[in-house]
Amino acid sequence: MRSCLFCKKPGGFQTREHIVPESLGNDTDILEGVICSSCQNYFGKEIEKAALEQTPIAFWRSYLGIRTKRGRLPSVDLNPPARGAIPAFHPASDTDIGFSAHEDGSTSIDVDNSAFIQRLLSKDKGEYRMVLSPWHLSIIGRFLGKMGLEYVALSDLDYAFSAQFEDIRSFVRYGSTKHLWPIYWGQQDKLGDLKEPVIWDGSVGHQEIECYRYALARMVKDETIFVFSIGVDLMAICLTKRLPIQNIENCIAGTKLSCVFYPDGSW
Ligand SMILES: [Zn+2]
Repeated sequence: MRSCLFCKKPGGFQTREHIVPESLGNDTDILEGVICSSCQNYFGKEIEKAALEQTPIAFWRSYLGIRTKRGRLPSVDLNPPARGAIPAFHPASDTDIGFSAHEDGSTSIDVDNSAFIQRLLSKDKGEYRMVLSPWHLSIIGRFLGKMGLEYVALSDLDYAFSAQFEDIRSFVRYGSTKHLWPIYWGQQDKLGDLKEPVIWDGSVGHQEIECYRYALARMVKDETIFVFSIGVDLMAICLTKRLPIQNIENCIAGTKLSCVFYPDGSW
């Protein structure tokens, strides 16, 4: 009997773990009995919720009108938490801004920030600025790491338990107040190509929209990379190496990547 993929607690679990959250439309990629219920609850409450509600992924959910698993249209408040061990605010970011999706397919912006409104109305037009803080990168890194390691487990369970993944296993489950995991970020497609009509048959929990894509690859000198894209954002994480990889810019055809990272001790 296998232990939990993340905390190594002895096995016999009855869990069904959705690798990509159900709220993003995943009802096919599920790991059964591999993750203990305490890790599963922790991921849902502490990582997936924050990733889906307070990061650029939240923006895409409302922009694309991706319904929650209960069939509701998303409405997100992008303010980071006020307190915590990792800085969650970047001074160049706009605050007090949220987005709501509506039944007619439109998205509205909810603003409670007069400086931002003035900038929007000004001659040179402003745009919404979200600069990712260490907290954002920690949440996104743990979210990507969780999905990535679970996809490794889905395709090769023994490999997922191997020593190569000890660091990411612990980072995903326990986090760190001292270091982050680098994320490689790029953009693909154009915004205008995205808003395809959503097929919605009215029954709760059913929706057909292709809102995310993923890939698992073994590349860059035997490192394992997980790639996840939503909207025009493409995010990649190396599951086997915690420090930034050199020359990764062109490792995904057609998408230029840059490393988003705060080095250890820089906050
Ligand atoms: Zn566990």
